Amino acid sequence: EARMARGRHLITVATEHRAVLDPCRYLEKMGFCLTVLPVEADGLLDPARLEAALQPDTVLVSVMAANNEIGVLQPLAAIGALCRSHGAAFHCDAAQLVGHQQLKPLQLGIDLLSCSGHKFYGPKGCGALVVADGIELAAQLHGGGQEGGRRSGSLSTPLVVGLAAALQFALFDASEREQRLGLLRDQLWRGLQQLGGMQLNGALQPRLAHNLNITVAGVNGTRLHSNLKKRLAVSGGSACSSATGEPSHVLLALGRSRLEAAASVRFGLGRSTTEAQISATLEWFSQVLANLR
Ligand SMILES: *Cc1c(COP(=O)(O)O)cnc(C)c1O
Repeated sequence: EARMARGRHLITVATEHRAVLDPCRYLEKMGFCLTVLPVEADGLLDPARLEAALQPDTVLVSVMAANNEIGVLQPLAAIGALCRSHGAAFHCDAAQLVGHQQLKPLQLGIDLLSCSGHKFYGPKGCGALVVADGIELAAQLHGGGQEGGRRSGSLSTPLVVGLAAALQFALFDASEREQRLGLLRDQLWRGLQQLGGMQLNGALQPRLAHNLNITVAGVNGTRLHSNLKKRLAVSGGSACSSATGEPSHVLLALGRSRLEAAASVRFGLGRSTTEAQISATLEWFSQVLANLR
């Protein structure tokens, strides 16, 4: 069958999480050929770019469901259909979507779907990879043959059970929660726009309801963040890049400059976020801006 063909070409996207980009670059060093597709200014992949990049020996396409920094939702059905028609396997990093929205991997043409427990209030250190029938994977760890021989080693029962329980809780009220958080996020965005000089990063739609990411004009990013963090737990990029102090590769891929990327703020709303906290956030943000401008 065509999709089992063993090619040497991989395709991914510039705004992927490092959990995808770094292994792809590693495989490139090991002799694979890697194409990293750009995104449009709104953070979305244009499927026509994928279509143009697919080759007869493309073995894997990896595109995330929802971006962890800017929350935009990639056009998975179109991507899945292209992968099917070109015989390439489709991996989708759904760490940001699982537990927040419904996702039907088989209908979308997804062959491999990964998620992470702590992104839906589950335990850290545990995730899942959903594998479609007919996909053969090399063992990641060799040993006792657990997990279908893919990842040997004794399983951590508390993590496995915790992951499943957290997912059940998360999905129980997901649609009601997304609706509530979407309204709060829009309220936050309207309030910020009134302060002037705000640019949204990523399309407002389609986007995760609990994410907002903005670039603030005319302020120094380091000073903005050191002031904001006295009262707010917001970030500039992802937890994985904050250690290096490098500007967010996601914001650079949207066409933001390094200075703009540094003066960007990512808000994450969650189950416990209240309207009073949105008001307090706007109040503090406006005080900080008044000081800096
Ligand atoms: C958090 C995250 C990961 C990494 O998952 P960990 O379990 O935290 O290592 C990968 N991709 C995306 C999109 C994420 O948000």
